[in-house]
Amino acid sequence: MKNNIRNNLHILFDIDGTLTAYRQHALDRTFHGNFLFPVILDLAEDHGISRHEAERRILETERKIPCWDYPDFLQELELTSSEALVAFREWHRKHLEVYSDTVALVKRFSSDGIPVSVISNNPHQGCLLKLEQCGLADAERDSSCFTHILSTDLLGGCKGDASVWSEALAQLSSNQTVSVMIGDNPQEDGELAVAGGVKLAFILERGQYSVPAACGKVIPVAEAGVIPTYLERCLGIIL
Ligand SMILES: [Mg+2]
Repeated sequence: MKNNIRNNLHILFDIDGTLTAYRQHALDRTFHGNFLFPVILDLAEDHGISRHEAERRILETERKIPCWDYPDFLQELELTSSEALVAFREWHRKHLEVYSDTVALVKRFSSDGIPVSVISNNPHQGCLLKLEQCGLADAERDSSCFTHILSTDLLGGCKGDASVWSEALAQLSSNQTVSVMIGDNPQEDGELAVAGGVKLAFILERGQYSVPAACGKVIPVAEAGVIPTYLERCLGIIL
């Protein structure tokens, strides 16, 4: 039984606030609430498209494709993915911090042969760019150490929407899967994840949200390094 749980274990990681954080002033410059849209607008201007026209086309694309990914805008503005990747990577290098405790945990699970995935309120390319800063992905090759990247464009919404969780867990192969969530938002990574079928949810106290005391399957932790001990204790498995 215990071996069965270990063999079917699948660990899900949130990205924002869990693996990465925005540096101070990172979100000072946005367009329509998004930090990469100004980068795309700059590139469009370099190609002779007026800022006003580029903004109009971004808004129009958002309207046409509610669950968009960044390539949708590049295509609309006839920008190449290689030039955008250079600019996107520069933004991420400049504006993102990486949490070493969760990155080490991803590497530990991966090297132990336990499948890891991400579930995030970023689109696919946005996830890859952030994971790349953690040394866990290659945005150019579209590759990573994660078996699934459960992004907004794939799931058709954000994990703050309860219905997205059932769709997300359905993607993780069999119904035998014992999924464990690691995030920083007590509501969407904790309550909603557990309601959607996650076996245990660990909520990191990163300072952005007030984290309630342990309640049922939702367990607050000060740092990610203690999670394997909790897994062993709660699920009775040796990692
Ligand atoms: Mg988060």
